[in-house]
Amino acid sequence: MEHNLYIYNTLSRKKELFEPLHENKVGMYVCGPTVYGDGHLGHARPAITFDIVFRYLTYLGYKVRYVRNITDVGHLENDADSGEDKIAKKARLDHVEPMEVVQYYLNRYHKAMEALNVLPPSIEPHASGHIMEQIEFVQKILDAGFAYESEGSVYFDVEKYNKSYNYGKLSGRNVEDMLETTRDLDGQSEKRRSVDFALWKKASPEHIMRWKAPWSEGFPGWHLECSAMGTKYLGEEFDIHGGGMDLMFPHHECEIAQNKAGLGKDSVKYWMHNNMITINGQKMGKSLGNFITLDEFFTGNHALLTQPFSPMTVRFFILQAHYRSTIDFSSTALEGSEKGLSRLMEGYARLQKLTAFATTSVEITGLRAKCDEAMNDDLNTPIVISHLFDCLKAVNLVHDGKKTISELDLSELQSVYKLYIEDILGLKSETEMSGGNEAYKKAIDLLLNMRLEAKQNKDWATSDKIRNELTALGFEIKDTKDGFEWKI
Ligand code: ZN
Repeated sequence: MEHNLYIYNTLSRKKELFEPLHENKVGMYVCGPTVYGDGHLGHARPAITFDIVFRYLTYLGYKVRYVRNITDVGHLENDADSGEDKIAKKARLDHVEPMEVVQYYLNRYHKAMEALNVLPPSIEPHASGHIMEQIEFVQKILDAGFAYESEGSVYFDVEKYNKSYNYGKLSGRNVEDMLETTRDLDGQSEKRRSVDFALWKKASPEHIMRWKAPWSEGFPGWHLECSAMGTKYLGEEFDIHGGGMDLMFPHHECEIAQNKAGLGKDSVKYWMHNNMITINGQKMGKSLGNFITLDEFFTGNHALLTQPFSPMTVRFFILQAHYRSTIDFSSTALEGSEKGLSRLMEGYARLQKLTAFATTSVEITGLRAKCDEAMNDDLNTPIVISHLFDCLKAVNLVHDGKKTISELDLSELQSVYKLYIEDILGLKSETEMSGGNEAYKKAIDLLLNMRLEAKQNKDWATSDKIRNELTALGFEIKDTKDGFEWKI
């Protein structure tokens, strides 16, 4: 594939030229949600970040197999090795089956992702559907000598692994320090060291989700599912592994160790991590009262929100920052994004209606190359957005009759805007999002054309009636030189 896409590899800590393992196929694995509650911004950011990677690689011509897993077992409270399973706990509190919790929140997650225009992944495997693969993976690590069995559970031996390989190379944590501070654990725990992590846990009598394995009836450790499912669907070596920065340690660090220990390989070529989201400068958390779900954003039903914000506003807000920068959400910042998005989409609509001239007198050259260049520099969406805004000045000059554009230049401009706004950034007009379609748009155009005719016939009563009633329904109507523009 001819391109020069550079992506920042968290493992090497530098931007690297993207060269996939197989000529035109890309394997990408992204850690998906643990489904025991409603989706929030912490779910939206990785989903949107890797949606952009998925869309851009597809635009470059790659056939992308995108795997995003669903964690429905083994993720214990506080991301730890002991405590209750997050899903089982929710099921106990709600008096339902764990899989009812999973299905309920998974349906809601999918609905939110669709509203955000996040494309579905190629495969969405569930951890609970891959218990056999996980048991086999544990066995491989045991056979290689990097794990030990204790009281029916199996733990990864970090100290032993670190003698041959480097535990901590992704997160940059110093394993010597970790081992030093945990040296006195002997005899007090099933684990030899607190830094060791569970590959298989023996289920306590009250634990509901359990499967038979050679070591005990139990369940897999949280980190194991991604090693097992990544290998199953993408092979022992694949191109991209992504997730939020909060997953770098211990989750991804453990995944690297599991694969190296069990398969003898560094399975992932490029590790990519999106940065975190803060709310009004604070970390998001249930105890801080600033935990806003996606549904609450869409309805405006939260004390910290001044109004509802559409899914496209949330998406645009996220894309206005580079994925490796932190984003701070506030109602004021979102209001700004809402205005910006509406300006961009109005300009895009205007561009589609421009009429061509014999020659071009407006400056528009190189928009496609500039946008590609920004994307090739580690998917810099904020720079792409600024190029799209810059070029709208030219669109407006032609629209206002001050400059001209040739048919060839106009169709190039229309094609670049469509490619970037719709296909790569995945932005949709809000009228489309609120359930409208072509017929609906044409019906509004028809009414407004009738109003124009009424005006020409000096039938002010009809013209005002159409305008006032549409305005009352929430339409914003603007008279222009050529006729009208409207939005909802
Ligand atoms: Zn994972």
